[in-house]
Amino acid sequence: MNLSLRLGKPVGGSKVNLGLPRKKHAERTCFACRKVQDKRHLMRLVVDEQGVIWPDLSAKLPGRGAYLCLEEHCLKKMSDKRLRVLRRDFSPQLPQWDVLQMRMFDMLSQRLLQLLKGMKRGAVIGRDAVMHQMWEKKPLLVLLASDAGDALVRQIHDAVQKRTQREATPARGATIMTSLLDAQALGAVLGRKKISVVAFFEDNPLQKLQQICVWQQRLKAVACRR
Ligand SMILES: [Zn+2]
Repeated sequence: MNLSLRLGKPVGGSKVNLGLPRKKHAERTCFACRKVQDKRHLMRLVVDEQGVIWPDLSAKLPGRGAYLCLEEHCLKKMSDKRLRVLRRDFSPQLPQWDVLQMRMFDMLSQRLLQLLKGMKRGAVIGRDAVMHQMWEKKPLLVLLASDAGDALVRQIHDAVQKRTQREATPARGATIMTSLLDAQALGAVLGRKKISVVAFFEDNPLQKLQQICVWQQRLKAVACRR
């Protein structure tokens, strides 16, 4: 393995590309469904000495790690029994999957708040400002509050669609995510009273933000179906 790959950080900072990845990243296999993919799209789990499983968002915690894809088909099949492959001497009475789901969800929520706080300065806040930015030729991530009104949601979707048609390269595209935070919570993080829509540009960790939102939605969807 070459050293720069192991260190992970490309020289000159990493530029987010919401379209095609510029270089190939290390791949890992999801321990539950065996799907192989870029390890940044998998959640690392670590088993501690007591056999307790922890999500490792930084992917840097010591200990035996395993990767979980958190895709819907995979989450639906998850159970305590499936987690036992992570540690053979698991005590069978140790219920972990429910607890682990909550832990993952809590950690993602905390990480999201942290990320958003760090992105406060470059945030484009409010419908008019976001609509205006649709003409900027830079990758853009639009985050909608969970309680954003239908009219606003439609307007943003239309604008993103038009922008995508206008911009030939996917690298300049725009992505829309719906947050689990409502307008008030989103406002509180970014220093406003209420925020229904906010956009961020590529000098922010957009892929991370997007990944967290996707994981949260999937965990919530699976939890709701029970
Ligand atoms: Zn999987």
